[in-house]
Amino acid sequence: MSYLNVTQLNKSYGPTSVFQDIDFSASEGEFVTLLGPSGCGKSTLLRCIAGLTSVDSGQILLQGKDLVPLSPQQRAIGMVFQSYALFPNMTVERNVAFGLKMQKLPGAEIQRRVAEVLELVELNDFVKRYPHQLSGGQCQRVALARSLVMRPRLLLLDEPLSALDARIRRHLRDQIRLIQQELKLTTLFVTHDQEEALMLSDRIVLMNKGKIVQSGDAESLYSAP
Ligand code: ADP
Ligand code: ADP
Repeated sequence: MSYLNVTQLNKSYGPTSVFQDIDFSASEGEFVTLLGPSGCGKSTLLRCIAGLTSVDSGQILLQGKDLVPLSPQQRAIGMVFQSYALFPNMTVERNVAFGLKMQKLPGAEIQRRVAEVLELVELNDFVKRYPHQLSGGQCQRVALARSLVMRPRLLLLDEPLSALDARIRRHLRDQIRLIQQELKLTTLFVTHDQEEALMLSDRIVLMNKGKIVQSGDAESLYSAP
């Protein structure tokens, strides 16, 4: 039994199947990349794990407990999207504090946790700025901070680098990996970019047309037989 076990997961929209009999697992603290072409079902799979979309059948066990009947809030999973979806009328600080305020935590604790996480993503100099005053890479770091501040049991990253230009993409890629290792945060990263998958992952799960076709570390997947 691993930290995360996805078993026989199925999802269709009406008569159209998005993915079939998905099985994979992740160990605690592992960085697993789901790699596959656009349209193969990666995003939908993440959304199902987060509870943003229902599944038709199957199990998603996190720390031994099935997530399927739980609401997204009860799952305590963090998710970062390609479009950062920040609140445009809130400063960086207030964007990051939002989830903790909803939980009605004491103000002093919110302040401490927000400051801690903004330091981690190197945004302490930008706390009073609004999203439109930030670069794409900075916005994505705010989105990451907003997830991390909730101390998720699992972090889901849906193509978080795709909207960024090449240099910023590499920088954020390395930063995500460092933070993930420092926090020992179990992470599922979705991408269609093979180089990203190779640079980042402990393990790669290859997906194609709604099925998992192979899984292993970079070396075992790409070494010639
Ligand atoms: P749920 O699975 O909880 O119903 P989804 O996130 O899967 O929610 O559905 C997202 C939206 O897509 C819903 O509004 C749903 O009605 C719509 N939808 C469902 N099936 C199809 C389809 N075949 N084509 C287009 N949209 C669909
Ligand atoms: P990927 O993330 O790998 O690009 P997606 O999970 O976004 O793939 O999409 C997989 C397939 O499911 C696509 O064919 C897409 O059109 C379809 N799909 C995704 N969401 C919906 C929806 N709400 N309603 C109907 N079809 C959907």
